[in-house]
Amino acid sequence: MKPNTQAGRKKTLKIIGSAIGVLIVLFLLSFIPVLSLKTGGMQTLRGNYITVYYETEYAAARDVFELADAQSERIANALGFDAPQDIRMYIYDRQSTFQTKKYGLAALLLDLDWYIGDNKGTNVLLTSPANPGKVHGYDAVVQASVHEMVHAYNSILNKRMPLWINEGLALYLSNGDPREDLYTTSYVPGLEQTHTSDPVEFSNMGGYDFAHTYIEYLDKTFGWDSVLYLAETNDYEKAFGMSEDDVYTGWIEFLKENYS
Ligand SMILES: [Zn+2]
Repeated sequence: MKPNTQAGRKKTLKIIGSAIGVLIVLFLLSFIPVLSLKTGGMQTLRGNYITVYYETEYAAARDVFELADAQSERIANALGFDAPQDIRMYIYDRQSTFQTKKYGLAALLLDLDWYIGDNKGTNVLLTSPANPGKVHGYDAVVQASVHEMVHAYNSILNKRMPLWINEGLALYLSNGDPREDLYTTSYVPGLEQTHTSDPVEFSNMGGYDFAHTYIEYLDKTFGWDSVLYLAETNDYEKAFGMSEDDVYTGWIEFLKENYS
């Protein structure tokens, strides 16, 4: 019977091997959408600083284009650039198309209905304001283009900028809207949590509510130049003359005073 058992084992191994092979192929195929930011037949709007690529929703693309082009100088100035940078924006008619352009088809499994904009370096990716999804409205998505533009600039400023600072800057310079009673009504992220680089965890811990107030605290306490220094270097001691721990403690006090 021995040879038969051996043959059976070989067969089992072969089946497992094939299954793993299929899974690897499927995994690789799921990334096909990220290979090109453009989709077939995209149209172009070219401004002084911004180039917008869109599918069929022209009016919505136009609104994004006009706002982003008009805000380019302010954002460039705020982030210490001599002149606006060349930013390309890709606007997709469907939220699902947008979501696959950074993380591939697997992004759809997460069912992130709030996920409407992102960036890949100086390329901004956006779902069309005409189809904003369930969580946001038309205007919120138009505004999100400026938020994503800040991320695009941040990617030039510092490739290793922590998510907490990156989001804080984007919210503070564009569409952050923290509630007045934020401190008393919400769970406040701990220092360790503010170090996360996982966007889903960041969202779940209230990062999109709190990161704005962190940058606001730094700006009002130490001045904008110090905020920019931190953004470029990640160096708390040199930027503020104190440790990150002490800055965090100061921020909690700021929240108590201003968001209770
Ligand atoms: Zn953001």
